[in-house]
Amino acid sequence: MSEHYRPRDSMTKPRIASGPRTFMRLPWVDDPLTAEGRVDVAVVGVPTDSAVSYRSGARFGPEAIRAASILLRDHNPATGVDITRALSMVDAGDAPVVPGYHELTLERLEEFLAPLYERGIVPLLLGGDHSLVMAEMRAMARHLGPVSVIHFDAHGDVLDDYYGVKHFHGTMFRRGVEEGVVDPHTSIQVGMRGSVHPDDVDSGKALGYEVIGWDELVDLTPEEFGRRVRERVGDRPVMLSFDIDFIDPAYAPGTGTPEVGGPTSYQTLRYLRALGPLNYRGLDIVEVAPPYDHADITSHAASVVAFELLGQVALRSGRTRAAETGEEH
Ligand code: MN
Ligand code: MN
Repeated sequence: MSEHYRPRDSMTKPRIASGPRTFMRLPWVDDPLTAEGRVDVAVVGVPTDSAVSYRSGARFGPEAIRAASILLRDHNPATGVDITRALSMVDAGDAPVVPGYHELTLERLEEFLAPLYERGIVPLLLGGDHSLVMAEMRAMARHLGPVSVIHFDAHGDVLDDYYGVKHFHGTMFRRGVEEGVVDPHTSIQVGMRGSVHPDDVDSGKALGYEVIGWDELVDLTPEEFGRRVRERVGDRPVMLSFDIDFIDPAYAPGTGTPEVGGPTSYQTLRYLRALGPLNYRGLDIVEVAPPYDHADITSHAASVVAFELLGQVALRSGRTRAAETGEEH
């Protein structure tokens, strides 16, 4: 019988007294590959912001999200899912990064992540600026081939370059297509808005992505949105990438390139809950920049987004019904 990793019971030890700040008060398991118990999800911080174009500070995102996440409990009444019964989860600390050397960071992050995907562990990456998904896609594609991506963001991140540099936090979803690590024809981008460079209008669609901009999304019910995503992605291995600037800066101000006029945090949760039990293999939440946050609003938003995403992974596990009945299976 293998060990099942869960957070401490919040009714026997107060959440504020949980000790070192791991995500959701989960056990810290430095190397999930050699863990004694089964590991379904490994939370990994990626404290890097070497590839931002505007406000920096996302290197402090992982610790801020972890600090906010100690408030999370196990059960989600909106979906009926107890994620910690369904999933054995650990916090694996932070990935290796090289401050100021973005492409080296990508190389080391890819090497760090690849064995996790190969083992079938779902990494939940806490960013960090969005450029880290380049390493995520490369590492996943090694094992799974070109991956399908569900990309929540105010921006398409499909520019060709910044200042002549190819790897930036606004170029990854173009680079990924060029490198063949993402399949745009089974991928979807959601939430785009705001002013863009004239070269960038409809460039996501031109690359082959389905794009649901915020102006279109706001008129879809969550159920209609969920159906669109499932039709696009099917049962293929999928990576879900969530840039916190998808959410309106009134609800998530602590980020590098805010775009006003976006969804509330509640609308966001409704859209996430509508996704359904897809074949999730990788998750990330990026661009949380605590120096611009107020009252930890953004960190709490990010930790609750993570909670909802883990709930969708839990649905996929098929163990949620057993949790409701108390039976093991
Ligand atoms: Mn963005
Ligand atoms: Mn982004």
